[in-house]
Amino acid sequence: MAKKGLLIDIEYCTGCFTCTVACKQENGYPEGVFGIKVTEHVYPGRKDRVQVDFVPFPTTMCNLCAERIAKGEDTVPACVRHCQARCMEYGTMEELVEKAKTMKRPMICFPV
Ligand code: SF4
Ligand code: SF4
Repeated sequence: MAKKGLLIDIEYCTGCFTCTVACKQENGYPEGVFGIKVTEHVYPGRKDRVQVDFVPFPTTMCNLCAERIAKGEDTVPACVRHCQARCMEYGTMEELVEKAKTMKRPMICFPV
């Protein structure tokens, strides 16, 4: 079976942390353990404004919700299902590369 991964369009990530919460709930990770983290990057923007980017990245604890998918509880991982901005996708490398072509700032992740 083709290896699957995550695709995130960071252009639309709002930094809501719903993916982080959904992941913890799905996997039952204890305090301090995360399957996906969201980092905040602040830098000078146009005129007197600052630009804030939120970049979610899966950690080594990400198992791509293997149990959830294998049991047929859902067709996508918890983070993808609950992403508030609908900026996350799940699929094979081929599928994600195609979808990434339509995104502004795509980031493809294949957790180990
Ligand atoms: S795919 Fe599953 S384990 Fe990986 S970050 Fe998303 S919710 Fe967590
Ligand atoms: S749930 Fe979606 S919008 Fe919210 S922080 Fe995660 S990737 Fe960004």
